[in-house]
Amino acid sequence: MIAGVAILGATGSIGTSTLTVLARQRERFRAVALTANGARDELHRRAAEWGTPYVGLVEDAGPACLVEAATHPDASIVVNAVVGAAGLEATLAALRAGKRVALANKESLVMAGDLVLRAAAAGAGEVVPIDSEHSAVLQCITGHPDALARLILTASGGPFREWPAERVRSASVAEALRHPTWRMGRKITVDSATLANKALEVIEAHFLFGLPYDDINVVVHPQSIVHGFVEFVDGSILAQVGFPSMELPILYALTHPERLPDAGVRRYDPVQAGTLTFEDVRRDAFPTYALGVEAGRAGGTAPAVFNAANEVAVKAFLDGRIPFGRIPVLVGAALAAHDVGPADDLGAVLEADRMGRASVEATC
Ligand code: NAD
Ligand code: MG
Repeated sequence: MIAGVAILGATGSIGTSTLTVLARQRERFRAVALTANGARDELHRRAAEWGTPYVGLVEDAGPACLVEAATHPDASIVVNAVVGAAGLEATLAALRAGKRVALANKESLVMAGDLVLRAAAAGAGEVVPIDSEHSAVLQCITGHPDALARLILTASGGPFREWPAERVRSASVAEALRHPTWRMGRKITVDSATLANKALEVIEAHFLFGLPYDDINVVVHPQSIVHGFVEFVDGSILAQVGFPSMELPILYALTHPERLPDAGVRRYDPVQAGTLTFEDVRRDAFPTYALGVEAGRAGGTAPAVFNAANEVAVKAFLDGRIPFGRIPVLVGAALAAHDVGPADDLGAVLEADRMGRASVEATC
């Protein structure tokens, strides 16, 4: 049977890799809806190539096209590859409509983890992560979900892993966009340089796998070969390993718990991979990381504020309005000014998002 796939953010890094994967698996999947924000010509070219029945461009149709694509009757799988808070409502709508959401948009879970899980339960939808670390964990625990005791997520450490804290604070945009192991969109690339991305991933893991924060650890692993470690209740550790590529986690998110033959992944060679090293996160040089994890621990509306403040601060940095070192200062100030409340309805989450944005916009 051919499964219909809606791709939100079809012109971005993950959207493009998703179409590459689908092109190798045409007898199993069909692109039935594509959306983008900008890149009009590219979107229409892709839609024509795939004969896609639904095409949504945000500047023509408004953000409602994301929800329309996410609930398209021909789609059984929704790949949410939108960047930022803009992806949340489509995730909720797809889950309520009973779809599988192959989730790259980690911001959905960070902002509103409880609402996302509730929407999945209410609509019989399911969330399957695309994020490589979470895909690694899912691949390791599949078959033994109740025996999970602890996670160790890996982080590349970003381009400033070895820089003195002082130098990190004045890093340029070009330096922040030079990621050592992954080619990705600009926002997540900056998040990887501040390590905000790893804090977002810790929160994402908390909701996906139901572990307390004490049992979600992070280790810096500059080679990006081990994508994640899982510890089971008997003390045994499994890891998922491979050369960095998002195509494997994307394919797995489409097929989980099955696996399909696929020739797209570069064959692993442990000798070629070379020496694998692991080190602690340097919290002094990357304060955004600790702010994000603390927001996760605080729970409620705190992660939505962290996410929103970070999004606006990263944009200001990319636009040349603030230095790199102001990102954690502004995010920290937004969190300090916020009274954490419950995040048990969409209104509360969107209000926290608005406050986080406003706090940074007012000070940068
Ligand atoms: P990107 O910037 O390359 O692409 C983003 C896509 O979303 C584009 O198609 C763009 O048109 C669309 N978009 C942007 N703003 C939008 C808006 N306001 N409304 C609707 N559509 C909008 O980003 P990316 O690197 O592909 O990342 C997408 C998501 O996947 C992010 O949440 C990121 O954290 C996550 N992710 C990416 C990677 C990676 O390797 N790129 C890995 C893991 C997770
Ligand atoms: Mg990741």
